[in-house]
Amino acid sequence: MNSRVLLLNGSTWEPLAIITVPRAINLLLAGKAVVIEESGKYLKTIRDQFPVPSVVALRTYVNVPRRQAHWSRKGVLVRDDFTCIYCGAKPGATVRGKLLAKNDFTVDHILPKSRGGRDLWTNTACACPACNHRKGDRLPNEIGMKLRWEPKIPRTSYLVIAIGSGPDVWKRYIEY
Ligand SMILES: [Zn+2]
Repeated sequence: MNSRVLLLNGSTWEPLAIITVPRAINLLLAGKAVVIEESGKYLKTIRDQFPVPSVVALRTYVNVPRRQAHWSRKGVLVRDDFTCIYCGAKPGATVRGKLLAKNDFTVDHILPKSRGGRDLWTNTACACPACNHRKGDRLPNEIGMKLRWEPKIPRTSYLVIAIGSGPDVWKRYIEY
């Protein structure tokens, strides 16, 4: 059983960790966690079947110190769900006759690197090839491009990437 379970904090439902199925089941059996989403799979024991959770939440809130999220290109793309911050294009969209795939999207520096822009969560966002090309070394407002959202620092970097590559039901628990 190599499925993984997303563990959420109590009451806030912020993601805390990705744990193994046996650990999740131990938390459930000990009454320390509740099932939020089931995986649709079952763990068979001699006597019965146990529904395998996909997301569980602790019953009580635990105070976990926040770690500063480490910036990475992949982290930016996952944070933005591969959506262009300028035009909103996503993988599967056709922009100027080109069908876009995930790997067509790149990280744009809002204040360009050539002008001192740094690799910061708040200065980087996902962009489609057309918008990235159009923007070049300029600031969005210099050429009338608008940000569709404000890029934010994710609370948990490794979790953002892990959740982004996990089952779809996990994605609604990504927080920024
Ligand atoms: Zn775009």
